[in-house]
Amino acid sequence: MSVRVSLMAALMTLSGLAGSVVDADWVDERQVGAFRIRSEFPLRGFDDISTELTQLQDDLEETLGLECNDHPIHVYLFASRSSYRAYLSIRIPDGLQRKALYVPAKDAGRIYVVRGSDMATDLRHEATHALLLNALPYVPLWLDEGLAEYFEAPSGRRFSGHPHERELKWAIRFGWSPDFDRLESRKGLLDMTGKDYRDAWGIVHFCLHSSPQAKSVLLAYLRKISDGELAGSLHDDLRRVIPDVERRIAQHLK
Ligand SMILES: [Zn+2]
Repeated sequence: MSVRVSLMAALMTLSGLAGSVVDADWVDERQVGAFRIRSEFPLRGFDDISTELTQLQDDLEETLGLECNDHPIHVYLFASRSSYRAYLSIRIPDGLQRKALYVPAKDAGRIYVVRGSDMATDLRHEATHALLLNALPYVPLWLDEGLAEYFEAPSGRRFSGHPHERELKWAIRFGWSPDFDRLESRKGLLDMTGKDYRDAWGIVHFCLHSSPQAKSVLLAYLRKISDGELAGSLHDDLRRVIPDVERRIAQHLK
């Protein structure tokens, strides 16, 4: 998940109230590239977090042909769901329902993640949003989520094994094909359904793993965004090169 404009405004307002807002008890702190990690629990034994974040940035830059700037990304790690909720309730109440969160802002992007079995996945997911915005002026919502779903898997395990893979294989038996119009019409996170996340992942997977042609369309699309051009629709770009792209995506994923 990534929370955009409305929450960003709320956060910027709150930053002016910093003195009056109860702070969490950070017991550990670490700097890894652009990431400043603060944690409610000792990070000894969690050294892989630093490696993961460095690796994620390397993978993302190499895979997508991007270069991330070093705009600060603050990572907040919470010991429990209740302390996460207590922290967010006074700062970003709109984000309370989300299991993890990324909020962009001018001074620094902020990532909120809870310790637990999903911590590493959530951290990679939210950090992908943050890194993409350190490389590009914007990313269309559905594609941003598709890329975050893709990169949330550990390095080296992105080609195969994501839960979306199994779900899509099943859906394809019942005639599934990607609905680009639906995805490209999504304007806010509240519009994005679980199936949208899954389908966005499937399209990203197709672009990155089906053929050099498909990959070059995605990379050229991201380059347009990077160069400040009007990027238009990735679907249109794909169709120009791969006219039966929907069928090819289903074929690739089954
Ligand atoms: Zn996300």
